[in-house]
Amino acid sequence: MHKQQSIIEESLKAIMEDEEFLPDLKAQTREQAYHSLSALLSTPNHVHKSFLRITLENGTIVRIPAFRVQHSDTVGPYKGGIRFHESVNEEEVANLAKLMTLKNTLHELPFGGGKGGVVINPKDYSVKELHLICRKYVQYFNDIIGPDKDIPAPDVGTGEREMDWMMGEFKSTHPGEPYRNSFTGKSIVNGGSLGRREATGKGVYFTFRYMMHDFVKENKKWLSDTDNIFAKTALEHADKKLKIAVQGFGNLGSVAALEAYQCNYLQNKIVAVSDAHILLYNEDGLDVPALVHFAKENNGELPATEEELRAHEIKAELGERDDLLSADVDVLILAALEDQIREDNIDSIQARIIVEGANGPITEEADKYLADKGVLIVPDILANAGGVIVSYYEWVQGKEAQFMEEDEIFRRLFQKMKGTMDTILPQFFGDPFPLRQNCYIHSVMKLSTIMYRQGKLY
Ligand code: NAD
Repeated sequence: MHKQQSIIEESLKAIMEDEEFLPDLKAQTREQAYHSLSALLSTPNHVHKSFLRITLENGTIVRIPAFRVQHSDTVGPYKGGIRFHESVNEEEVANLAKLMTLKNTLHELPFGGGKGGVVINPKDYSVKELHLICRKYVQYFNDIIGPDKDIPAPDVGTGEREMDWMMGEFKSTHPGEPYRNSFTGKSIVNGGSLGRREATGKGVYFTFRYMMHDFVKENKKWLSDTDNIFAKTALEHADKKLKIAVQGFGNLGSVAALEAYQCNYLQNKIVAVSDAHILLYNEDGLDVPALVHFAKENNGELPATEEELRAHEIKAELGERDDLLSADVDVLILAALEDQIREDNIDSIQARIIVEGANGPITEEADKYLADKGVLIVPDILANAGGVIVSYYEWVQGKEAQFMEEDEIFRRLFQKMKGTMDTILPQFFGDPFPLRQNCYIHSVMKLSTIMYRQGKLY
């Protein structure tokens, strides 16, 4: 069973044992409700698959597999990114669509969950071919997407350029209909939202900072009185200057690292960062703005030689990429890929707090093992929702054709994430479940209640 599904099953069991949950269902067997919910949540509403017919620039015709999975529209129109990657497959897209349902519900966004994918390595295609792939994607899924049906966004391998192209095609194929909010993650000139690019990285750091330095400090008294192992971990780190390592220095990792660096009232230090090629380490703290500047000028990559470091006056030791995971740090922010912490490297992890920026960077076995040791894992569903939250603001702005200032976007983003944490954290530190399980329980509970009240669960 996939990790998400097994957590959903565990969450359902926990909910079913809760006497307060849907008391009207008491007349029926709870067993029946459990099976109904399990069936509704484990399977998507629709799986759309097509083979995009593309004529390459050299005249060859190819057929490229493409997916759009619509998991649930219980809470609102389907919403989720479109991934361009060679490893895309139906199961992966379906699992990511399910995660979107749970994430959107957790953060009280008026969206269901969906996800898309195209099986390509974008680097193998010319700009003209990529443009054609984007247009064909919209043409093939023309009837199922739209501002009130299913609103895609960027994901791995796609960005604002692709969203602009797709919105442009949607506009052509739906003349006279609203189109501005058919896609989110667009460029600013094309109706995108200010702050969208930084939203996920800022949200990831905010989640960590709010939990450790606001919530934990404010609630020190009762947290010290509980025997919750995660409360102990949090308290041990609450007043310390923390050493942080960030895996991945792309859109998410570089913004999260910069947020940590700039948050000088906490004096946390980014001591290690890595990308696909290299690890940089400095015990006294890395000059993150200089690294961001370097990456901007060098195709997103970190300096990888002594000469490059010297030329940019950056003080750091170079190391093996994967050694970042075992670095002597308090906090690991995972902002690269899935399945990075696994059974084979789990014993080397020293960090006691791990923040999941990427989706699914810790395998199920590793997750359980670390949780048993009291490692506080801030899960993807909670920490990396900044992108979809600002996508929601972009969607609203598109509907109203009124645009907000950047400050206003970030104010709302942090307010929303704070609201979610204020609901989740007291419950989390008060019961024995890890934070991921807690978020799932909350989300599944809310989805079930909404389904029940809509007359869809009996
Ligand atoms: P990105 O492509 O901009 O950056 C990825 C970074 O990871 C790059 O620096 C790359 O060099 C690095 N990397 C790749 N393999 C690595 C490895 N083995 N070790 C260390 N670094 C490695 O992607 P992004 O937008 O920053 O997203 C990162 C992850 O977060 C993805 O898994 C994505 O699905 C997830 N995510 C992103 C967003 C968003 O809004 N950007 C939102 C939610 C989730």
